[in-house]
Amino acid sequence: MSPSANPAREVLARTFGFDEFRPPQEEVINHLVAGRDALLVMPTGGGKSLCYQLPALLREGTAVVISPLIALMEDQVAAARQLGIRAAHLSSSLHPADRHEIVRQCRQGELDLLYLAPERLQLYDTRELLDAMPMGLVAVDEAHCVSQWGHNFRPDYLGLKLFKERWPDVPLVALTATADETTRNDIVARLQIPDAEIFVKGFDRPNIYYEVRPKANPRAQLELFMAGRQGQSGIVYCLSRKRTEQFAGYLVAAGFDAVAYHAGLDSDERLRNQERFQREQGVVVVATVAFGMGIDKPDVRFVFHVDMPKSIEAYYQETGRAGRDGEPADAVMLYGLQDIVLLRQMLSEQESEQQRRIESHKLDSMLAFCEVTECRRQVLLRYFGEQSRPCRNCDVCAAPRELFDRTEDVQKLLSAIYRTGQRFGANYVIEVLRGGSDERIARFGHDRLSVFGIGEATSNDAWRAILRQLVARGLVEVDVQGYGGLRLTPGCRSILRGDERIELPKDSEPKQRRRRTPRPDEDDLIFDERTFEALRELRMQLAKDAGVPPYVIFHDRTLKEMAALLPQDLEAMSQIGGVGAAKLERYGEAFLAAVAGGSGSSGQ
Ligand code: ADP
Ligand code: ZN
Repeated sequence: MSPSANPAREVLARTFGFDEFRPPQEEVINHLVAGRDALLVMPTGGGKSLCYQLPALLREGTAVVISPLIALMEDQVAAARQLGIRAAHLSSSLHPADRHEIVRQCRQGELDLLYLAPERLQLYDTRELLDAMPMGLVAVDEAHCVSQWGHNFRPDYLGLKLFKERWPDVPLVALTATADETTRNDIVARLQIPDAEIFVKGFDRPNIYYEVRPKANPRAQLELFMAGRQGQSGIVYCLSRKRTEQFAGYLVAAGFDAVAYHAGLDSDERLRNQERFQREQGVVVVATVAFGMGIDKPDVRFVFHVDMPKSIEAYYQETGRAGRDGEPADAVMLYGLQDIVLLRQMLSEQESEQQRRIESHKLDSMLAFCEVTECRRQVLLRYFGEQSRPCRNCDVCAAPRELFDRTEDVQKLLSAIYRTGQRFGANYVIEVLRGGSDERIARFGHDRLSVFGIGEATSNDAWRAILRQLVARGLVEVDVQGYGGLRLTPGCRSILRGDERIELPKDSEPKQRRRRTPRPDEDDLIFDERTFEALRELRMQLAKDAGVPPYVIFHDRTLKEMAALLPQDLEAMSQIGGVGAAKLERYGEAFLAAVAGGSGSSGQ
């Protein structure tokens, strides 16, 4: 083979152990290596870090990386060092002797990457150090924090304009996973990089399977979902603190390594649970939305929503914590009438009228997403302004939902709500329809209504499903200030008059765990489970010894490839995706031995 004329590709293979760039990594890297500024918007897990780490190796001098969370910085430094990259971070948590040594390395130009928290730039010492060291590149991670339009403004970030003021010739790259047009322009303005090229990679997370199920018995539904998921890391989201503890308890009782996480836990316990999740394999965190910021774990295999989030943005961000490594991951959400009532109630407590209107609109979009009968990914991406084709990797694509004409049942339900005076909740109205024996029915004389008992043939669950869909479509309102009474909206008129037919899908709860339809572009890796387990064990041991999270040693994908290809020597090992030169030298022999052991015992 002829020697590669492309230094970026060479480093990609040698140091990172990957064969191909992902779009738009190569363009961004070439742009930075040429000394120009850039803003990169790319979804979580897209591979942003490589876009500054690789140029850091190709350019003279050290790349300074601004990153907001010290805990994450430590992991990033550990991961970079595993690749043989000379990386360090400067923070107040360092021992003075260590800090001294790092400062020396900076001055001598012995580092490829230096991570800094944004506030350190305010320190005279830091500025002096940056003046004295050869700086080859500046990377601003989580760059949306510089913008008030972004969802996580940090005043510290405003100080970062210093880079271009003081070192105008050092190329700067700003990176973020979430920035709409306004935020993008704001980032460019505030960091003073008016000529920056803006690279945007879409919102799609093709490896995530999306599924929304009607909520029936959430505990049983979660347990069914968890069957066969021993050893997988995952996040279960609940709406309240109490529910996180309850559901964590269920999972522990079912034999899973589950911990609760919410803002009410004392900070030690919270930190401990987060650390365990980050550093161990197979921990499930059952959490409120308080959990997530600063979670940078690539091998989260599932996100399960026991309760519905209040907006599509929140849903996208929470489900986006799954599958950052690009391996298949599941995002499953349960939702029912009760979620709608609860979220509307929370909304009504919102003080500002304007805020209430915005949030109410967001909730409507979320509900519409739940009830869609077309590809969920299409709907999700459309919400963020992107067009796409049906994905074949969501519940709707996997089992298209057949629509039935339900006009008559809908009319019965609407009349029952109307005739009982639009002040009763779902349970009562359904009781009336089914000719039930609630003592209030006789008291109010509702057993003499024409609607009494006309819905007997339809099950309670089926009625609830219809009602939920009507509420989601805005045909029926729930009075959240009162006692959850149901009310008709003007849209009902034409249905009641019979001028409009209404089609709804039937709720179907998969009895069995569904099988995922593989995407066309996904190679199905057939690997030996026992070897894979042996490799995971070895990885856990090595990670403990080195004091790093396991994925820093190798990703699951890499272990699966080993367990599929069963390399016999270091040469073959070096061909595995994710095995670069430094890791080959450090771990090659150990994993070869484990492959030999694992496949030997199962080869009968
Ligand atoms: P982000 O910062 O955008 O969330 P990361 O930089 O953490 O994403 O990368 C996500 C994962 O993708 C990492 O495990 C990384 O090793 C992997 N990755 C990045 N670039 C490539 C590539 N070109 N080929 C294969 N894997 C890659
Ligand atoms: Zn789809």
